[in-house]
Amino acid sequence: MKPKDPHGAGPAGLRAELVMRLVQERGLDQPGALAVVDADPKLRGLLGRWAAADPEDLAERARRRVDELGRLAGCLGCGTCCRVSSPTLYQPDGELLGQGRLERDALYSLRAGEMVYSARLGRAAPLERDLVKLREAPGGGCVFLRGTTCGNYQARPLQCRHLECWSGRNAGDLEDLARLDRRDLFQDDATALALIEEFDLKVPAAKLTDRLGQAARGEAAAAEQALELMELDHRLRAAITRRYGYGVPELEIMLGRSALAVAESHGLEVVLAPDQRPRLRPKASPGGAI
Ligand code: SF4
Repeated sequence: MKPKDPHGAGPAGLRAELVMRLVQERGLDQPGALAVVDADPKLRGLLGRWAAADPEDLAERARRRVDELGRLAGCLGCGTCCRVSSPTLYQPDGELLGQGRLERDALYSLRAGEMVYSARLGRAAPLERDLVKLREAPGGGCVFLRGTTCGNYQARPLQCRHLECWSGRNAGDLEDLARLDRRDLFQDDATALALIEEFDLKVPAAKLTDRLGQAARGEAAAAEQALELMELDHRLRAAITRRYGYGVPELEIMLGRSALAVAESHGLEVVLAPDQRPRLRPKASPGGAI
């Protein structure tokens, strides 16, 4: 007689247990752990023999295999780190751009003064310097992520190649390395460089961040000032495109994200009030405007 199934849920129950074990042991997210369990030939072999094997023995062997994977000093290809956010570019990544192995359309900038989540600090904080990053997909995560694999693996940025998310060992290594700056990408374009300086004076990132932060806390006067900056941001971008021909992807490197996108990152959206004037309100809130 076949020994009793310890889960009472067949191979699906064991698979779920293995996924959770990997999540806990290695810090993977659940989709990443599921992908690793399903892709590992040894685990697939064990789960595939479920009908003919002793479930308790098979479960023990599967757990041991998961423990091995958890300790493996190498990338499991789970995609967890690529789903959290997209990488920041450093000076050596300029070579990938120069060689055409990384397209400019895949990039955008964050300006010094913008509020972003810092993994190092474990909270949101104003950026001390401009950053150039790979874009994020609409649902979050790096734009190159395809399932759990990198769609641009041979030309992935330095941060992806260097950091060991499984060990955290190299976490501080890039701290002192110069980041790529949006001005580096326009070094032969005097018009773009002048526009960057002028725009930063007219729509300072720190001021926009400050007003949006206050607006998100319900301060009506700050919300009005944030809307004025957002309107100016919109008008300047449209005028630059009309006059100089820079498209939206170029502008999102030169001038950073649109003020509308920055507002969204503060959890705010623009709606038309009954008097037909734009108002800010918390995103996806059916309630009143600020
Ligand atoms: S470039 Fe590739 S490795 Fe780097 S975060 Fe994006 S998907 Fe992951």
